[in-house]
Amino acid sequence: MNIVLLGAPGAGKGTQAEKLVDKYALCHISTGDILRQAVKDQTPLGIEAKGYMDSGNLVPDELIIGLMKERMQQPDTEKGVMLDGFPRTTAQAVALDAMLSDLGRPLNAALLVDVPFEVIIGRLTSRRQCRACGKIGSVADAACPNCGGEMYQRDDDNEETVRNRLDVYANQTAPLIDYYKGQDKLVTVDGNRTPDVVFEDVVAKLGIA
Ligand code: AMP
Repeated sequence: MNIVLLGAPGAGKGTQAEKLVDKYALCHISTGDILRQAVKDQTPLGIEAKGYMDSGNLVPDELIIGLMKERMQQPDTEKGVMLDGFPRTTAQAVALDAMLSDLGRPLNAALLVDVPFEVIIGRLTSRRQCRACGKIGSVADAACPNCGGEMYQRDDDNEETVRNRLDVYANQTAPLIDYYKGQDKLVTVDGNRTPDVVFEDVVAKLGIA
């Protein structure tokens, strides 16, 4: 099973991805996580990506498409992928179709986690992430509920950057909703509910109970 997760930043894509990956043993690929690791390691990719990420803009398509072409060749993707944060532009979606077709694998669904923008602004500015294991939590978590690690606020989760990220989403990524509707692959869930309730709906709608 190969799935693309769509939705605004903070819609809960990462949380649903973790649940799907646990239940169905898929390979979770988050381009945001790959880029944050590259920034931390100060690789050439990280150095180039950092400015775009800090301002809430998208990293150029060529960089992301090159990175994903390489990542999709890794053997762990054979069991099926859960793509979280990719594609983010129509050019990336077209490139993904070509990659999957070259690999002879189908895209089963594009899952849209739908949440109103006002709810997202509140969620993102109170979001915290574990420095050690990447677990997503909130300002209410003094330490990571998973491993006890230090929780921190991502550089791009301040209100000004969040608003820019939402604009970028509306202009560049939301058109993918129609793109996947046109391929008859779009599955929409209401993401403005608790993560477990959203997940039940995801499983039912993907028909993979
Ligand atoms: P995320 O964790 O998915 O919200 O991604 C954090 C940041 O990484 C985004 O705001 C972009 O700057 C960059 N990024 C992640 N995925 C992509 C992508 N597919 N295309 C372009 N930029 C990306």
